[in-house]
Amino acid sequence: AEECSVVVGVRIRPFNDREKTLNAQLCVDVDGPTTILQNPPEMALESGKGKEAKRFTFDASFWSHDGFQVGSDGYCSPAAGSRYADQRTVFETFGRRILDSAWEGYHCCLFAYGQTGAGKSYSMVGYGANKGIVPISCEEIFKRISANTDTNLTYEVMVSMVEIYNEQVQDLLVPPKDRPKKGLEIRESQQLGIYIAGVSRRPVDSYASIEAVVEEGTENRTVGATLMNATSSRAHTVLTIEFKQVSQAAGQQGQKLSLINLVDLAGSEKAGQTGASGDRLKEGCAINKSLSALGNVIEKLADKATGKAKPGAVIPYRDSKLTRLLQNALGGSSKTVMICAISPASSNYEETLSTLRYADRAKRIKNSASINENPQD
Ligand code: ADP
Ligand code: MG
Repeated sequence: AEECSVVVGVRIRPFNDREKTLNAQLCVDVDGPTTILQNPPEMALESGKGKEAKRFTFDASFWSHDGFQVGSDGYCSPAAGSRYADQRTVFETFGRRILDSAWEGYHCCLFAYGQTGAGKSYSMVGYGANKGIVPISCEEIFKRISANTDTNLTYEVMVSMVEIYNEQVQDLLVPPKDRPKKGLEIRESQQLGIYIAGVSRRPVDSYASIEAVVEEGTENRTVGATLMNATSSRAHTVLTIEFKQVSQAAGQQGQKLSLINLVDLAGSEKAGQTGASGDRLKEGCAINKSLSALGNVIEKLADKATGKAKPGAVIPYRDSKLTRLLQNALGGSSKTVMICAISPASSNYEETLSTLRYADRAKRIKNSASINENPQD
């Protein structure tokens, strides 16, 4: 096994209409791979100290706040001389290495973290012509497969899609009325590592077919409106691509298997701030249970990697469905990338600081990645 860190990137979106109307103050900047968070002026006044900006260095910090031009198809690309990071750049930086790892036979995970409205889905899925890492990666998978000329090498691709909602794992490729009431169980096996028992797995053989499956799953999602983001899902969405390479050489059959988990997390903000009440608040609590469990796991793993943890300290993966499902991605045998989406506005300072601290802990995590070759059936 090869020791490797969780790869972490931060992305800063443009002001939204609400922030523009409220004359939002920009409080973040990027310097190479470093994200700089400026203390809001009122805070510097209050405390009389802490005027200094906080700097956090990651594998990449993407400036997507301004400097873009919109093409006739709606695609946002950098204007001449600008540092704007477009969807392609983010894919080239993070998506491509996920695919390269999958081809080598590693399990991989890419997940997006951040406050509701900060740009998680934009980076993962994208909107309109601005396709995110998920569709670009799916396209790229089949591009690579069709470029293969080795007749002894064949590929099998399967997809499944679930959401974790109120601490239940629901199959998005099954209509809500046909799902088991309490959701699906997460289990563990030698070959697959962590897996979801009984989840639908659809074979796909082209970009069009994978796109159709994802569309079907997206339609089946649980969507709840909060004041902060009317269309944002309040659930964690997980798309899993099972990628198998089968080779025939000298009468011998060889196999490499990679599970690619692409995770769009629910918003990380605290319940009170979204104006949620009743059912929405209850969801908020369950979402926070999963996310706070994720926070604990990340903290414990970071402590372990930096030698701060007691020897033999248990990592609390079993505290939530999300952490159980991401067990392999965090501190396990998977190659993992985390994208943290942040708001540029000083009104979101607290949430942005909390996201950056989260990200800073995550980058300390060490996985021991291993190739899944010739797995025993
Ligand atoms: P989240 O999934 O974190 O709740 P979204 O990805 O839906 O947030 O983003 C909220 C809004 O901000 C959307 O309208 C989206 O188009 C816009 N947005 C987010 N990130 C970017 C970006 N990098 N460039 C341009 N617009 C963005
Ligand atoms: Mg979203």
